[in-house]
Amino acid sequence: MRTFIKTLPARLGCHSSGTAHNPVVRHLRVIGGLAECPGCGLYQHVPELQPGQLATCPRCGQHLQRRRRTAPLAAPLAFCISSAAFYLAALASSLMTLNVYGRERTVDLLTGPMELMHEGWGEAGLLVGAVTIMAPAVAIGLMFAILYAGTRPTLPNWAPGILIWYEKLRPWSMVEVYILGIFVAYTKLTDMAHVDVGPAVYLIGGLMLTMAVSDSTLDTERIWKHRPVDSLTRMDDGAVVEIAHVHVDDVGMPPVERLVACPSCGLVGEMEHPVSNLRCVGACPRCGHSVWRRAPESLTRTTAYLIAAVVFYIPANLYPVMTFMRMGGGSGHTIIEGALELWSDGMIPLSLLVFFASITVPMLKIASLATMVIMTWRGSRRGLAQRTRLFRVVDMVGRWSMIDVFMISILVAVVRFNAMATVTANAGMVAFAAVVVLTLFAAWSFDPRIMWDAAGMNGRLVDGLPRAVLKMHDTDTDTAQGPSRPAQTSAAAPRPAANMEPNQA
Ligand SMILES: [Zn+2]
Ligand SMILES: [Zn+2]
Repeated sequence: MRTFIKTLPARLGCHSSGTAHNPVVRHLRVIGGLAECPGCGLYQHVPELQPGQLATCPRCGQHLQRRRRTAPLAAPLAFCISSAAFYLAALASSLMTLNVYGRERTVDLLTGPMELMHEGWGEAGLLVGAVTIMAPAVAIGLMFAILYAGTRPTLPNWAPGILIWYEKLRPWSMVEVYILGIFVAYTKLTDMAHVDVGPAVYLIGGLMLTMAVSDSTLDTERIWKHRPVDSLTRMDDGAVVEIAHVHVDDVGMPPVERLVACPSCGLVGEMEHPVSNLRCVGACPRCGHSVWRRAPESLTRTTAYLIAAVVFYIPANLYPVMTFMRMGGGSGHTIIEGALELWSDGMIPLSLLVFFASITVPMLKIASLATMVIMTWRGSRRGLAQRTRLFRVVDMVGRWSMIDVFMISILVAVVRFNAMATVTANAGMVAFAAVVVLTLFAAWSFDPRIMWDAAGMNGRLVDGLPRAVLKMHDTDTDTAQGPSRPAQTSAAAPRPAANMEPNQA
């Protein structure tokens, strides 16, 4: 027992303010078979899943757990090795060759970020380099480490940290968005010159597919189940806590206000006292992530990022994002002018794509997150399930706004023929990249569960524990389940407020 306590501070997720010298022993129950929905905060019964089964929340439709059919390690490993091969080959080969009146220029993946930095747009160059070159490499490296850890009889102590970092960094690898950026740049260039697409474009296409498949075959649930839960952990106030394991079928549903779920591995624990939303509870005894009942300062942080995004949104649309000089003439154009130019050149689908990614998506993100923030402040109960679904869409589509930034980075790199034809980046592009990054941060810091908390929907359950809806995820049909509970019938509509007692303060 002493060795456990010795190793505890290293796994403490948040800063301890208490007395670590004289710990008080307390108790915590880890409850199996129970999961908290990360979309709406509903605690529900999730049984052991069969291969191919998917558990979703009956209240907001959020995917809770999924059991893959594929080999848990061999399938992602095969695709991870292919990703590494595609990545290295893409780095070493050329992206595009442009031929203007007999003069040729060939560029590769690194040229775009380097040229942007050269021109004095260091932040934008770093951003493009980070999300197209660094992040994919880090994601592939971390995936290898996770798969190696998965082959060990018990998951090594460093593995949970790697898995947590993988999930945090993976959205920053924007290979699939970059492919569209290349496509838009290519279409703009075929207009003025002869363009040869280099092998790197096909290799990045391959990388996009293998990374996506390796992600979708990785079964994180099973990796976490592989990991034993420590028998002791230390809370934020320095108290040492003894951990007991129980199953919800045996003990019944504990009071909701005493429950807390790990944001990283989903482990559900019951504390001795009601848990505050405002304080870190301590480190998760399974993965070591710091456990908060809700994302800390979620509303304030989202509001701050949104205000910053709105401030940058104005110059991003008013100032030119790039200047196309041809034969000594030419002028800068803004994001909207870029989309309109594609339209007038007859490339209507592409123009619609750019319009959607660069104009609709940032506006939709800012407007819908602002609505969610305001309705949460006001404790509104209207359209909670729809708002939660909208949040998932907003969270998913935000990265696609980077298309324009990537397209400019490619044009700046390849169109450098002095007086004949030159593309330069302008201040509007940096402001636009800032809007994209700030709205991504705004969505990531928003915890959709607080919308349900504010509406008083996460109080004590008075009519029994709801059950997750089980489906086969390739056929999308519901499978047989245990006894029918009221929550199962309320898949579309939120549970009536009468079933809930109000939240604790
Ligand atoms: Zn839910
Ligand atoms: Zn955890």
